[in-house]
Amino acid sequence: MKISVVTPFYNEEEVIPIFFEAITSALSGYDDFEIICVDDGSSDSTLQQLISCRAIDPRIKVVELSRNFGKEAALTAGLQHSCGDCTIIIDADLQDPPEIIPEMIAKWKEGADVVMGRRAQRKSDSLIKRMTARGFYQTFNYFADDPIPENVGDFRLIDRKVLQIINLLKEKNRFMKGLLSWPGFDVAFVDYERPERAAGETKWNYPKLFGLAIDGILAFSTVPLRLSFILGFVSSVFAVGYAIFLILRTTIQGVDLPGYASIMVVSLTFSGLILICLGVIGEYLGRIYIEVKQRPIYVIKKLHGDSPADRT
Ligand code: UDP
Ligand code: MG
Repeated sequence: MKISVVTPFYNEEEVIPIFFEAITSALSGYDDFEIICVDDGSSDSTLQQLISCRAIDPRIKVVELSRNFGKEAALTAGLQHSCGDCTIIIDADLQDPPEIIPEMIAKWKEGADVVMGRRAQRKSDSLIKRMTARGFYQTFNYFADDPIPENVGDFRLIDRKVLQIINLLKEKNRFMKGLLSWPGFDVAFVDYERPERAAGETKWNYPKLFGLAIDGILAFSTVPLRLSFILGFVSSVFAVGYAIFLILRTTIQGVDLPGYASIMVVSLTFSGLILICLGVIGEYLGRIYIEVKQRPIYVIKKLHGDSPADRT
């Protein structure tokens, strides 16, 4: 039974020593494992450190990307190079505690195909972060056809057969939380308390998180398009009703000229509605444009390892 661990690294020089210490001790009970580290174009000493760690421990493999492609792409690269019977996805900053990995592996051996780490507490997050996260999960699950479980990040174990399916999903807009949950299968959970970052800084801020949320919803739902249709339909019904009323009133009572305010209200409201609906279409169109270009999700500069898995 081979266990693969996949971790994206972007400017994580401060956490590398503690990360490897924690992960190797968590995996000490298993004799066959590999740690696939994806260097996502770090500008600090992350890559050098990863390579020197590999020199000491050849179970560490390094996938070096040609520039920063973002966490989702880095994770994709790692997953495509994973060749274990199960794969564990974990962040470098130890916010996903490696201590619970044995528990995950135990559940996998009991028959679960996917074992998700679920944050029992988000004490380390601010109230605003918790509220926005909750709002996001609710909005996403309202819109999306395939709901994602709340308070579950990318930290999870997936069986080889699930990974093979995830590796088939070639879309460029990679909302990993959604893609990882998409195949389904037998899911189990392990609860944990999410600690603070061990060292270094988060690469996320609210505008970026908002962008991620929009990307996620648009990638997994066409409900916004349906909503703009419904909006247009409802307002057309009102418009036709009002037009009939106006025609009747004019034929019966004759022309009454004053009406500047009502004309302005109607034309402003409708131009607003039209622009909103065009915007929704534009958001989808932009994404279709990106998809049809078929550019690769990431570019590998060098592989430091001997992974026979498929390379894209
Ligand atoms: N990461 C990456 N590329 C990026 C940004 C982040 O590979 O462009 C990695 C980062 O090194 C870490 C993981 O993604 O291992 C999660 O990042 P972070 O801790 O900043 O996110 P948060 O935990 O705050 O969601
Ligand atoms: Mg983190």
